[in-house]
Amino acid sequence: MITNRSQNLGTETAFSVLSKANKLADQGKEIINLGIGQPDFSTPQHIVEAGIKALRDGHHGYTQASGIPKLREAVCADIYKRHNVEISPDNVLIVPGGKVIIFFSSMLLGDYDREILYPNPGFPIYESAIRFSGAKAVPYRLREDVGFSFSAEDILNKINEKTSLIIINSPSNPTGGIIPKDEIDKLIKGLENFPKIMLMSDEIYDQFCFGEINFTSILKYPSIRNRLIILNGWSKTYAMTGWRLGYGIFPDTLINAAEKLAVNVHSCVNASAQFAALEALNGPQDCVTVMNNAFKSRSKIMFEELNKLELISCNKPQGAFYCFPNISKYRQNSLDFQNNLLDTVGIAAIAGTSFGEYGEGYLRFSCASSEKSIKKAIEKLSLFISKL
Ligand code: PLP
Repeated sequence: MITNRSQNLGTETAFSVLSKANKLADQGKEIINLGIGQPDFSTPQHIVEAGIKALRDGHHGYTQASGIPKLREAVCADIYKRHNVEISPDNVLIVPGGKVIIFFSSMLLGDYDREILYPNPGFPIYESAIRFSGAKAVPYRLREDVGFSFSAEDILNKINEKTSLIIINSPSNPTGGIIPKDEIDKLIKGLENFPKIMLMSDEIYDQFCFGEINFTSILKYPSIRNRLIILNGWSKTYAMTGWRLGYGIFPDTLINAAEKLAVNVHSCVNASAQFAALEALNGPQDCVTVMNNAFKSRSKIMFEELNKLELISCNKPQGAFYCFPNISKYRQNSLDFQNNLLDTVGIAAIAGTSFGEYGEGYLRFSCASSEKSIKKAIEKLSLFISKL
């Protein structure tokens, strides 16, 4: 019989909405997909070529479980270049997608007598992986009235003797919010009183920031470094979601156990993908700037257009590539809104409740789509709400 812990697994609704949207498109219906969270850009050609070259050069076998040394060194060089922080390649674990780091962190630190704090609304895999580990998943709220930031005080108040891990995510999926530095300062200062609690910072959208609120990496806080896990990767920054590539930076106390998990689960990451990842970090970075500029201008258009619609209000996205409008003035709940929007006018978006209970009353739209489709989607949304 299936275990209780397996029954606790959640999912990512974006994948089921994607499959429903594709089915409707196959039936000939016009669909605008603002559901799935992936760049609509192709992986830059020089990165693709590096992957192909690696295959031609015969990189067909297993690599070190933690990732090829050159790639782990390149991750450290990239962090030094961007944050001026020194990391040892021995603390870097290359994994098949950033998601794996969420799962590994939960498995390493979650247990039946423990609690893990996570953002809500937030990436749904946090809650799912925590619950699978046996730990109690304790949500803390991201509040619209403060730009979807957390309150450090609120997080610190939720800590008790069972708390083993706190997960934070900035820039945020699904809200597009960035946590201001003073709130992070308060959290890190407060955590000095709880020296056993670990922190996992999901920084996967860190290169998509629109300039109004500065992104602050937790790597900048030496006082927490020996209990900090960083999640990052290539999926979003280099439009490489399908390559399945990510990395974690683990403290000395966890890196060996994390590597053992990798050996048990996937042995190593696809060798040619690792060579492509190396080229992504070492090669020209203008592709990242191009995407950031595109997401910035598209999310501005979407945010402005959404705010023109009756009874809908939307916070200005500060990073990532999502708008998270408030639709609570309409009498439909988020899930009905999501389903009816797709069925009647062919717009795929994701119900806020897919990101936790505090997502009720919101919808997530991805801005990783052309300006033309964003404008068309807003027209159709306007038509849809005019009939509610
Ligand atoms: N963390 C957040 C906040 C995300 O939104 C995602 C993907 O959507 C991930 C992690 C996982 O990314 P990957 O595709 O590299 O597993």
